[in-house]
Amino acid sequence: MLGKLAKGLRMLGYDTVYYRGEGTYPLIKMAREEGRVILTRNNKLIPKKPEDRIHRIMEDKPSLQLKGLIQKKVISLNEKTLFSRCLLCNILLNEITREEAEGKVPDFIFFQQKKFFRCPQCLKIYWQGSHQENMKRKLDELRTITK
Ligand SMILES: [Zn+2]
Repeated sequence: MLGKLAKGLRMLGYDTVYYRGEGTYPLIKMAREEGRVILTRNNKLIPKKPEDRIHRIMEDKPSLQLKGLIQKKVISLNEKTLFSRCLLCNILLNEITREEAEGKVPDFIFFQQKKFFRCPQCLKIYWQGSHQENMKRKLDELRTITK
């Protein structure tokens, strides 16, 4: 249910696991072991230990969910980590040379862009404009709301 939020968080550079398993205990156990904050719509999920960080998402729109998380200081916007992670695999991207990207991205993109990045797992190639323009605009909106 929070798939779009997960992608948004990865876009901001957050290490985000989308939990597809069953039951709440394995989820809480994993969060404890990996030091993660749980974001959920499930109101039955409540912290049982002081280290449990469970944050309930009330908003429906992904942009408002992100805004809410920023306002509650669960996350923050950091220019340096923006667009550093694969949106599908949650893995840090590697910068590749223009030569490596040639032929693997549309020609007009190749000539337009200077920097290219690749996911080491799914090999998807990203460039600064691939989701940036849209996202930058959204982020600017978020900033104006959160200031
Ligand atoms: Zn990937």
